[in-house]
Amino acid sequence: MNSKTVCVKCGLFLEQVLQGMTVMEMAHFGPYKLWRADLWDCPGCGLQIIAGFGDGPIAEHYETEKFATLRHAAEKRGKLITAGHDQKREERDDNNSRNHNQCRGGP
Ligand SMILES: [Zn+2]
Repeated sequence: MNSKTVCVKCGLFLEQVLQGMTVMEMAHFGPYKLWRADLWDCPGCGLQIIAGFGDGPIAEHYETEKFATLRHAAEKRGKLITAGHDQKREERDDNNSRNHNQCRGGP
């Protein structure tokens, strides 16, 4: 599979900086799936993205022990990224002193 990525702003190919990032996909009920993917960044502006996801998740929420083990291993190595549904809400809670860019749709 070709996974070339380009920064639209800079017109530069992004460079893969880290392999084997673990992405924790969140759902409305909390942690949902763990994915293996790669971290890329733009040499021009520093934009960072996660791309190159595997075909399927490496763990799902109902695989409790496996999920916890993989999650904590990634966390320890500083390679865990949380993404999806609840991430924005968590950020709002963490940063409720600087309430810019707010999206007041939820409860
Ligand atoms: Zn750029």
